[in-house]
Amino acid sequence: MMKQGVSAFATEPTRDVPIVATADVVVVGGGPAGFSAAVAAARNGASVCLVERYPYLGGLASGGMVLVLDDMCAGAEITVRGLCQEVIERLARRGLAVFPSEKERGHDPAMWRKWSRWGLFDFNVRTRPHPICYAAAFDPDGWKRVSNEMVAEAGVTLRLHSWFSHALVGDGAIEGIVVDSKAGRQAIMGAVVIDATGDLDVAASAGAPFVHAGYMVTTVFRLGGVDTEAAERFQFEEPERFAVPDKEARRIIGGSWDYWWLKTPLPGIVWCNCPHMTGLDGLKVEDLTEAEFEGRRRIHALVDYARVNLPGFAQCYVIDIAPQTGVRQTRLLDGEYVVTKEDIARRVQFADSIARGRDYYTPYRALLPRGIDRLLVAGRHYSATPPAQKISREIPPCMAMGEAAGIAAAMALDAGVPVRAVDVAMLQRKLRAQGADPGDTPRAEARVLETLQP
Ligand SMILES: Cc1cc2nc3c(=O)[nH]c(=O)nc-3n(C[C@H](O)[C@H](O)[C@H](O)COP(=O)(O)OP(=O)(O)OC[C@H]3O[C@@H](n4cnc5c(N)ncnc54)[C@H](O)[C@@H]3O)c2cc1C
Repeated sequence: MMKQGVSAFATEPTRDVPIVATADVVVVGGGPAGFSAAVAAARNGASVCLVERYPYLGGLASGGMVLVLDDMCAGAEITVRGLCQEVIERLARRGLAVFPSEKERGHDPAMWRKWSRWGLFDFNVRTRPHPICYAAAFDPDGWKRVSNEMVAEAGVTLRLHSWFSHALVGDGAIEGIVVDSKAGRQAIMGAVVIDATGDLDVAASAGAPFVHAGYMVTTVFRLGGVDTEAAERFQFEEPERFAVPDKEARRIIGGSWDYWWLKTPLPGIVWCNCPHMTGLDGLKVEDLTEAEFEGRRRIHALVDYARVNLPGFAQCYVIDIAPQTGVRQTRLLDGEYVVTKEDIARRVQFADSIARGRDYYTPYRALLPRGIDRLLVAGRHYSATPPAQKISREIPPCMAMGEAAGIAAAMALDAGVPVRAVDVAMLQRKLRAQGADPGDTPRAEARVLETLQP
């Protein structure tokens, strides 16, 4: 077999791998989806082993330094609840999450001035300026601390520094996984496995059908030493003068949203969701290496320019460039149901809805691989077309999917049924009872497709 760009192969000897853990539920990937899946499964009575390649939990929300939780409200209604809200509350109690109060949300220009540089506005609404909405800016290390606290409280066995290598499959079902670690290869066995790697590493290795897609890649970074008050004064009080260097800054970084820097709960520290780079594949070592080189080059060019030309940035310096590369889309599950852009745009509500984003619904079938049992997926690699995933993969809906997958896994084990045979109406009731919103009660404008049989 000849793989693209590869002309020679080495043969790996087969070997026995020590089994270092066995759990009811093995969750691979400790990002927003995997963390939620692990905590939810453990709180619902399963023994859980959570496996993560990096030395911390949070995925793109911490290591990727994606520092705004959005896509969790429709107008005044908060649509993603459950574990996502619990994390926000725990962060806010420590002063490490910030969000506008109910009366501050909407179109008031004074509130735009107060909140827009936090990025807490609804960019899905076409009117300009966008309305201030319920969204939360948070601190990445705070996320790591809160995640540690919650997995420990739930009794999850956490194995960090463990890089998923391949799935162990027998009789059409996943039986466990093998990881690479400093201690060599290790096996972890589970009755149910949840793939929360974001790139579908586990399901792909287990033979589940998927599509390989892609979207821009970003090396997010943070700057310290920024006088944010001076920077905002310049923007709001001298908009015409501000527009010139701001445009040039965006040209230098070469790919950013209009608001290329946003405030964080730490004074003087801003995060920059840029530079965006296109044409790179988040699964290719060569492309990921290029992203890190090109990203760093552009970031330092921007800093040199900002120090001289942008009021408020004269003393700025790079604090860090996110250790997890900002990969948005790679493999997507081709599962029992594939969510389309039309489903999202038309707000299709499914009878087996188990999670919500802003005003759209995710069916349980989009977490179910075809042709392989005992496996669930949750997170940005869920079963959606590439255009649908682009507009439905923010952190809160990924957490909602994870929470549903975790409870579903525990229910399947309790009932002694395959994950695809879980009683979805009961799953919806359990999610509600535990504070989440599965989307079983459609909003007025939703398009209801089917109803569950009683
Ligand atoms: C630059 C950028 C900006 C974004 N902006 C926003 C925003 O403003 N607001 C918002 O809400 N969302 C935003 N998103 C989207 C959001 O961050 C992701 O879609 C979300 O984090 C997905 O969560 P996840 O748990 O599915 O995946 P991830 O966050 O990617 O987590 C996957 C986890 O699995 C681990 N993992 C992966 N492979 C392996 C392996 N082989 N072995 C072991 N562990 C593994 C990873 O280390 C990671 O911890 C942004 C994304 C990017 C890239």
